[in-house]
Amino acid sequence: MRPDIIDHCARAVTQTRYCIDRIQWMYPNITLKYPEINFKLKGEFAGRAYGERWLIKYNYLLLKLNFQDFIDNTIPHEVAHLVEYAMYGKTGHKETWKNIMKDLGVKEITRCHTYKTYPCRKRKDLQRCGVSV
Ligand SMILES: [Zn+2]
Repeated sequence: MRPDIIDHCARAVTQTRYCIDRIQWMYPNITLKYPEINFKLKGEFAGRAYGERWLIKYNYLLLKLNFQDFIDNTIPHEVAHLVEYAMYGKTGHKETWKNIMKDLGVKEITRCHTYKTYPCRKRKDLQRCGVSV
């Protein structure tokens, strides 16, 4: 793999683990493992969390092209889905998920991103993730 690819992915893994560590510190009564991560997601979704499989898929192209926003927003967004699943057995974009996003320090909580996707869409906001509730 090219060094820049490794660097983007390594940063995403580090940020994911940081988010898990932060929640673990805040909620010592639950036990959170680090999730499996891959970068195989394609299309308009930036990420997708799979609670049952304890897996997060990230969209490598959108990570690379929108690096800082991805680190600041998409990664906590997906981690919050996993954490909500661990706490409640299901996940969506409602209050419990929003509260976890606040715990992770996310200021603007939205289920959408404005990344350009290829081919470019006319719709302004694209869903950040594939969880649809
Ligand atoms: Zn989501």
